[in-house]
Amino acid sequence: MTPQRAVLLLRISYRKPEDDDEEQLDEAMRRRREFSKGIGRQEEDGRALADRLGWRIVKVIPEDDTSAFKRRKIKLPDGSTALRTVRPGFRAALDGLASGEYDGLIADDLDRVARDPRDLEDLIDVVESRRPRIPVESVTGSLRLANDADITMARIMCAVANKSSRDTARRVTRKHEELAAEGKPPGGGYRGYGFTAAGHEPIEEEAKILREIAARILGDWDGWTPEQRTRIDPDVGESLNSIAADLERRKVPTVTGAPWRDRSVRSVVTKPSVAGLREYRGEIVGKAVWEPIVPQERWEQVRARLAGRNRAVDLTLKRWLTGVLRCSHCGHRLMGWQGNRGQARYWCAKPHGGCGKIAVKAVFAEDEVQRQVLELLGHPDVLRRLRTVADTEVTDEARAELAADEEQLKVMAGMFARREISFNEYREGRTIIQQRIRESRALLTSRAPRALRRLLDAEDVAAGWESLAPADRREVVLSLVPGYDVLPHDRSAGNRFDPGRLVPIEA
Ligand SMILES: [Zn+2]
Repeated sequence: MTPQRAVLLLRISYRKPEDDDEEQLDEAMRRRREFSKGIGRQEEDGRALADRLGWRIVKVIPEDDTSAFKRRKIKLPDGSTALRTVRPGFRAALDGLASGEYDGLIADDLDRVARDPRDLEDLIDVVESRRPRIPVESVTGSLRLANDADITMARIMCAVANKSSRDTARRVTRKHEELAAEGKPPGGGYRGYGFTAAGHEPIEEEAKILREIAARILGDWDGWTPEQRTRIDPDVGESLNSIAADLERRKVPTVTGAPWRDRSVRSVVTKPSVAGLREYRGEIVGKAVWEPIVPQERWEQVRARLAGRNRAVDLTLKRWLTGVLRCSHCGHRLMGWQGNRGQARYWCAKPHGGCGKIAVKAVFAEDEVQRQVLELLGHPDVLRRLRTVADTEVTDEARAELAADEEQLKVMAGMFARREISFNEYREGRTIIQQRIRESRALLTSRAPRALRRLLDAEDVAAGWESLAPADRREVVLSLVPGYDVLPHDRSAGNRFDPGRLVPIEA
């Protein structure tokens, strides 16, 4: 079915002047000229593509991008309302597609259509609302939604774009800072390790243990014997198990009296309160009123190291999706497993605490993920973005953004506490900011993507991928996506492998 009533969506970014500053006005004029120029080129490209495909364009919708991060309530094509980025052009195109006014969409590029994953999801909803699906094409070829594989790829690319092109135009005004009155200790009788329940005063013996745990993880503890020290790699630190065993041996009490385990060691030291951060419903909402026990930067290092340990370089690794795939049934990570019939599988391994219910043939999963990675890396845009991500400047920027976002959460919590905004508004706003915070954190805590950088430097990315060791492949995959959930095998599909069983985990 060749669209005869297609809509061409043109979108370009330029920024409006902040105030009446003359220099900025000139800048705005210049950008406005660029804007119309850019739109002209996009329109030509879009029409050329339509000609090639035999589509007829009945509507051209230009859209500027001055308010990419302003959100307001809008009506979705299915009639419900939600908070979305203000994008009247994009919404008009969606509405037209949903109503049947248009029967196809052409855009310049994926990130012009869907910089925000929610926009992409709305578009996917509309595209899938019809059988056959509404055709979508882009000049760069980066946006196709013709089948499940396309959609998965679009989601991954959108996530990558989102990760690296976060808008920095977010400021917290002084007025807002004055409003921020949060950061008080949580109420209730529960107490976290290191603090009294009332008032959140540090308990010195426990604070000492927390600092010790951090140091042992970071590899700079001064309590190791010289003999122990020679066995510790300062870049890796001591394992949680070994720390737990030592705390047990020394009869260091826990809050509940339960023995120390690797999990409890991890849990006490990674609590945001330890770094003087306020947590609300499991998320960091800003700096707390109490002093940190472990300085925030050091605490971030501890979290980064514990997160990175899962993908510590393992020279013996054979099945490179170990730790990348997650059981959709119980949430355990699948492990490479040599079945007794000689077929390698990834399995939610019962002997390692998994449920044993989810397994996938290794070669199927590996082929599919490899296909996605190579397709992703085949896009010049994606390569460009990933190269930016590998840049240290980006790390600094992410750190600044993280601080700004955490501040903003605190401001919002204050506004919510004073009932200046409703809980729904608070929750919605918080979700948006937390998403950015997760992205910043992911960027900051991801180990230097050494293998990825090597791959990006390779002249031929596909050949470079072939030559990567399994551990490096895993590192590359994990620098692109947080992992995949593996859905159960649908027996009615027979022996065929359904790539839809691998669902990228959202960051
Ligand atoms: Zn499981």
